[in-house]
Amino acid sequence: MDFSFSEEEKLFRDVAKEFCRKNIVPRVVEIDRKGKIPGNLFREMARQGFFGLNVSPDYGGLGTSFTTTVIVAEEIGYADISLSIAVFPFLVENAFAYIIDNYGLKELKEEVLSSIVKGDSLLGIASTEPHCGSDVAAMNSRARKEGRYYTVKGEKAYVTGVAEVKDQGGGFLTLLYTAPERRYKGMSLLYIPLNLTGIEVTLYKEIGKRGSSLGGFRMNNVKVPDRYLIGREGLGLYPALEGISRARVLMSIAAIGAAKRCLELAMDYAKQRMVFGKPVISHQGVQFELADDCTRLEAARLLTYKAAWLIDKKDKHKIPSAVAMVKLMAPHVAYEVINHALLWFGAYGYTEECPVEIGLRGVLSILTGAGGTSNVMRLAISKKLLTKF
Ligand SMILES: Cc1cc2nc3c(=O)[nH]c(=O)nc-3n(C[C@H](O)[C@H](O)[C@H](O)COP(=O)(O)OP(=O)(O)OC[C@H]3O[C@@H](n4cnc5c(N)ncnc54)[C@H](O)[C@@H]3O)c2cc1C
Repeated sequence: MDFSFSEEEKLFRDVAKEFCRKNIVPRVVEIDRKGKIPGNLFREMARQGFFGLNVSPDYGGLGTSFTTTVIVAEEIGYADISLSIAVFPFLVENAFAYIIDNYGLKELKEEVLSSIVKGDSLLGIASTEPHCGSDVAAMNSRARKEGRYYTVKGEKAYVTGVAEVKDQGGGFLTLLYTAPERRYKGMSLLYIPLNLTGIEVTLYKEIGKRGSSLGGFRMNNVKVPDRYLIGREGLGLYPALEGISRARVLMSIAAIGAAKRCLELAMDYAKQRMVFGKPVISHQGVQFELADDCTRLEAARLLTYKAAWLIDKKDKHKIPSAVAMVKLMAPHVAYEVINHALLWFGAYGYTEECPVEIGLRGVLSILTGAGGTSNVMRLAISKKLLTKF
């Protein structure tokens, strides 16, 4: 067993660390207050190759291991505790550009992949609907094949990146039924550009992660070319879940990165702030909490890298429950650690002047639902455990 990163992975970590600390750390508060990631930051990230880490070099990507992407996500989460950048564009682009690269037709790859890698257009995933998220089989969206097109009707909701895709161009890998009577084997995955006729966009106001958007879109008899089908018709759930697995690991490590930074900010403060004649950090009660929090963060981090390693090994039997364990544990641990960190600041922690509240709101976005809820992760873990008997 070897817990160290390879030389190549260390190189990516160092490049990402330097870039993120120089270009992202100073902009986090501004991104949260303005509710927007500056366009030049998108372009700078694209220049670093951040949007095509798992895309093959044929389409302008770097073709790195998934573990490398996780390493970069940890650095982005550390730098941007709001998790806006880590979630969208970073993790959504990487997780789902990989799916297009692996399951899309050549025409689709040529049309969209190099543009995504360059940051010229954006990509998202749309499976949730206004009335259903966890129970994906309850979805209503339908596509009917007519010649070289699918005619699509339905509505997607709580989807990350709708405003950015609308403004900057791009589309969503959209899960819908092509044969509803076949349930899980009647779902297909279509790339749907947001500028097609018949699409209407809605936007929600988020509590956290304010630099990127959350919205939905209605599809009123939208004509989607059949070259935009990802994988086989009726078997679209499988590539969708593969992308979602990657996304779950990436958002988990980003949350861990954010918690690590919030804890460091709180430690700096607790070394300065005097209570009962000595710094807050000198009190044993505070030190014990610090030790517990660092231990739990490291445990969640190791579990996350183990899931990344299983994904790189393509260990299909172990990936679903390993990823579910990560998504169950990491956001909870990160949220609790940030909450403790915030309390160390006393009343100052309750104000917007204290940066840690941005981290608490950011991690909440992952805890509440992004990538699936905790109970759904528990279902996946227990399913795996019970099938052994
Ligand atoms: C910040 C954010 C970003 C998101 N981005 C995207 C995106 O890009 N694309 C996309 O498609 N979706 C996205 N979503 C939606 C997300 O996938 C859903 O929120 C998630 O799947 C849960 O669905 P739901 O919100 O409809 O909750 P529901 O499915 O209605 O669940 C409600 C509650 O019931 C619990 N529950 C459900 N089933 C069970 C069960 N069997 N046993 C016990 N408890 C259960 C859940 O844990 C939850 O607490 C995002 C959500 C958030 C918050």
